[in-house]
Amino acid sequence: MKNRKVAVYPGSFDPITNGHCDIVSRGLRLFDGIIVAVARNGSKNPLFTIEERLEMAGEIFKDVPNVEVDSFDELLVDYVVKRGAHAILRGLRAVSDFEYEFQLALMNRKLNRNVQTVFLMTGLRWIFISSSIVKEAAQFGGDTRSMVPEIVSERLREKFGITS
Ligand code: ADP
Repeated sequence: MKNRKVAVYPGSFDPITNGHCDIVSRGLRLFDGIIVAVARNGSKNPLFTIEERLEMAGEIFKDVPNVEVDSFDELLVDYVVKRGAHAILRGLRAVSDFEYEFQLALMNRKLNRNVQTVFLMTGLRWIFISSSIVKEAAQFGGDTRSMVPEIVSERLREKFGITS
C-alpha cells in the first residue's frame, strides 16, 4: 500500500458491531485504506476466539474495497510501522470513552512520535452500542439484529444456544 494513506483500526472486536462498521466507513472517507486489526492479546476474557472474530470481520468486509482484516500480537505502534500505515484510527462515543482513549493515544505517541491517532465520532445511532452491551443483550435472548451485522447476530445466537 505504498504512497497511500492507510490507517490501522485496532480493537478487540468481540464481536464487531455496527458502531465499529460505522467508524470504518467514515474512515474510508479520509484514508485510502483501512486495516481492521483484531488484537490477539487483549487482556479481556473474550467471548469469541480470535479465529471467530477474524472470520466475522472478514465476512463483513469481504466485498469492501480498501478494507483489510488482520490480527496483531505485538505493540500496536510496531504493527502500524510494520504495515507501512500512517495512523491509528479509534472511535469515540461519549465523554466516557475520552479519558481511556486519550491515555492510549498519548502512550502510543510516547512509544512512537511518528504515528498519529485519529478519532472519529460515531453516528448518533450507535452511540450506545458496545460489544459488551450487545453480548449482554444476546445472552438473555435479546434481538441484536439492529446493532450488529447479520453474521454477528447469528453467531451470537449460536454461542448462547438461542434457537428462535
Ligand atoms: P478495545 O478493546 O481496544 O477498546 P473495541 O473493540 O471495544 O476494542 O473498540 C475498538 C474501537 O472502536 C475503540 O476505539 C472504541 O472506542 C471504538 N468503538 C466501539 N464501539 C463503538 C461504537 N458504537 N461507535 C464508535 N466507535 C466504537
